[in-house]
Parts: sequence; structure tokens; C-alpha cells
Amino acid sequence: MGGRRAAPRGRTHTMELPRRVAVGEGTIARLGAFVASLSPARRAAVISGSRVWGAVGRAASASLRRAGISFEVHEAPENGARPLGRLGREVRASRAGLALGVGGGRAVDAAKMAARLAGVPYVSVPTAASHDGIASPFVSVRGRRPHSLVASAPLGVLADIAVIRRAPARLLASGCGDLVANIVAVRDWEIGRDDCGEYYGEYAANLARMAAQTVIGGARGGPDMRTVVEALISAGVAAGIAGSSRPCSGAEHLFSHALDRIAPGAGLHGEKCGIGSIMTARLQGQDWRAIRSALRSLGAPVCASDIGIGEGDVVRALVMAQSLRPSRRTILARRRMTERGARRLARLTGVT
Ligand SMILES: [Zn+2]
Repeated sequence: MGGRRAAPRGRTHTMELPRRVAVGEGTIARLGAFVASLSPARRAAVISGSRVWGAVGRAASASLRRAGISFEVHEAPENGARPLGRLGREVRASRAGLALGVGGGRAVDAAKMAARLAGVPYVSVPTAASHDGIASPFVSVRGRRPHSLVASAPLGVLADIAVIRRAPARLLASGCGDLVANIVAVRDWEIGRDDCGEYYGEYAANLARMAAQTVIGGARGGPDMRTVVEALISAGVAAGIAGSSRPCSGAEHLFSHALDRIAPGAGLHGEKCGIGSIMTARLQGQDWRAIRSALRSLGAPVCASDIGIGEGDVVRALVMAQSLRPSRRTILARRRMTERGARRLARLTGVT
């Protein structure tokens, strides 16, 4: 097997998976019944953004009330250990038996963390197809070190395609960037297996790769919304099966996390991961041109200037990336980036 290692014998592997997933048109109007089918809790904490809640709050509230579920709405805070800790205490104090994350990435991630802190389950209600955290048990919290913290899988995922279709096109393109990243992440996972004897799950790896190939293959003519939503849910499930964010997060995510610090506010998560994927795929010897042209056809940014950052930012991020999470071995640990090498890589791939 030449360096390949399976999971050590006798070690238990735990998979966190959602129990029920509903994808359809107008499903938000059935939110109450969906929640009631999953949990006997009659009190919920809704975590949402004010704009999103303004758009879907009426339908969602009416449905929850019809199902006899009372709730309080909490504003989704910025990603960060402190604001999320505060939200967790609020959810606990509200005596909610369940948290509902209603929104794009931030609200679902916030609900995931707050629910964990409050010791209650959560339901994910994505209103945009912007990242694969909508069904994944993991969440990256900004702090001194951005990490995928072990959280828990959502009890249920309810995705209303009609709502998601109304979200800005940029969010969908960002979700595609987050999916394309799986191509790089899975290769990095193989590196972790080969260099460090890390557990590697063939099935989870294939599932994550398939989610990426679905959007790469269907890039021409624009992505089909429902397919992207299902691929994002499936990628989250792949992470659940893997028991880590490995199949969906490698060097390209570390690059994105580095940019979060170097150029806060520039670009969306999936946009940064997409750009990072172009460069790190080249380092891995993978077909980076295919990744770049897929991103371009999907309407996702492929150049640093597309997200308002300069070459210096890209170079610094490439050099910093691996140090943010030394234990996650990626191509950037094998091919250590110098400033010169990073600049060359960025230019060769057309990122700068
Ligand atoms: Zn991601």
C-alpha cells in the first residue's frame, strides 16, 4: 500500500449527520412542522440577521406559531469567540430547547456555536448557497487561531430554493468557490495520510470531490441552484462522515483564513477559497486551469483585484497560511512558501 494507512484498528470513528433534510420550493412555510417533527421543544431561539429576518421572518414566524412553537429572535453576531459566547449564554437563559439558524453563513454558524454552548440541538435554515457550513458539524471561529471547532451536526436542514434564489448572485458564486476547494482539500488530506499517518476516509473523500465536480462539470450555462444547494449539503455531510473538516478544508482554506486577518472584510469566504484553490492546486500538480476556468464561468472571482486586494496581501497570506494551523498538514507544509515563491505562484496562476 506504499505509505497508505487506514484508520488504526480498534479506534472508534464517530460520524455526525443531520437527521432530516428538506430541500424544496416554499419550504419555509413548513418550518414549524419540520421543527416539530424533529424535537419536542416548544421554545426556540431563532438566530438571524435583520435583513434576512425582514425577508423571511413573516412566513417563518407564522409557521412556527401554527406548530405551537414560541421563539425569541437573536441578532447573529460577528464571528468571534466572545460574541458567540455571549449569544450562547443568551440562548441558555432563554430556556429554548432548540436553536434555529436562519440566514447565510453567519447566522447558521452562530446558531451552531450558540447551540453547542447552550447544550441544545439546532436546525439549519440557509437562505443563501454561500458556503458548505449549512450542513457541516464544524465551524471556524475567529480568534487567535481560526480553527474548525468540533461542533455538532444540525438536527435538520431546511433549504427553501425559492428563498435562496432571491439571494445575491455573488453568494451563489461564493458557494461554488467553497465547493471547488474540495479538490485541493482532498489532495491535502492524502498528504496528511501519507506524511503523518492521519486517518483518511476514502468514502468521505470521494463524496467531497463529487460535490466539487458537480459544480465544475455543470459550470457552463450557469450553476443550477438546487444542485449547488444539494452539493453544499452533501459536502457538509462528507465532513460529518470524515469526522473532521478535512475533505472540505485544506491549504486553500488556510489561505482564506490568513486573508481574513491581513485584509479583513475583503471578499467572501468562498471567493477567497476559490482564489486560494487556483494557486494551491498548481502547487499540488493538479489541473489548476480547469479550476480557474470553472470559477470564471460560475461568476466567481479569479484575481486578487476582483476582491479588492493587492499582490502584497496574497503573498503574505500564502506565506502565513500553514502557520495558522500547523497540525493540518497541507501542500504548504511540503512546499514552504517564501515571499519570492509566493509571488511567482500568484503571477503564474494569474491571481496577480
Ligand atoms: Zn469553507
